[in-house]
Amino acid sequence: MASMNTQPQHPNRHSGTNLACAASTRTARRAWHTFAVLVLPVLLAACASRGPQGLSIDQSVQAKSQNSRVSTIVLHYTSANNEASLRILSERNVSAHYLVTDEAKPHVYQLVNENRRAWHAGVSEWYGRSDLNSTSIGIEIVNQGLMSSPRSGYLQGPGADKWDDYSTQQVRTLVVLIKDIMARHQIKPENIVGHSDVAPQRKIDPGPLFPWRALAEQGVGRWYDETLARKYAAEFLLNGLPPTSWVQAELRRVGYTTPDSGMLDKATINALGAFQMHYRPARYDGRPDAETLGMLKALP
Ligand SMILES: [Zn+2]
Repeated sequence: MASMNTQPQHPNRHSGTNLACAASTRTARRAWHTFAVLVLPVLLAACASRGPQGLSIDQSVQAKSQNSRVSTIVLHYTSANNEASLRILSERNVSAHYLVTDEAKPHVYQLVNENRRAWHAGVSEWYGRSDLNSTSIGIEIVNQGLMSSPRSGYLQGPGADKWDDYSTQQVRTLVVLIKDIMARHQIKPENIVGHSDVAPQRKIDPGPLFPWRALAEQGVGRWYDETLARKYAAEFLLNGLPPTSWVQAELRRVGYTTPDSGMLDKATINALGAFQMHYRPARYDGRPDAETLGMLKALP
């Protein structure tokens, strides 16, 4: 498997060749009288890609209307050490595009080409789009995750549950890696998410210690206007919390799949808990409170 401290392959790497082909063809036309017989056949052969059974496929014209198939980056922790993580993600029926180890100088493996589908998100949904494996890049980070919890079911807060820390070096590595992927696929900040954001009924990774705010400060991912959030929170404290139907609609507005029941049911608690893990990690019990709802309202 390829070591990935080098640049990942550019998804549109053919376009460089095509531009060269087009330029070469124009040059050949200008020099037609001199070189037609010797040069042109060679150039044409270079522009035509060999298809099945010798079929010639002309790639010299590229459509203006196109973009990347990748719209989302999903972050995970592995709950396993370096060796086990690598073995599981390369040999079993799960995978990810990238694996970032927890060594002092983190090693970055690319296990799946970005043009291909890795099996990391499972049943998932974001902004109403399901099957995120088909449209996302998955990054697994070596981290033990939730190491102990006094209670099962939805969780309380870092004070009650014990979580594994991410190292400064891992975070630094992730910023470089994610920024490169973002730029190449034009990924919007709101589409850099955790597994728990896209599968809140099943998943809690990358967990409340994942430093989303620090990443946002470095231009990776979405954050809310903190002044505005405090203002909204003060209003909620003064006037009372809005109804659950409002919370559900707001969660959907910012990407989360949430029931439209108007009830604080298990699915809504899990979605709000995932929101809290991402934006208010000090407590992620999935219960509406003024601070959480202020952040939710302030989130673009
Ligand atoms: Zn995961």
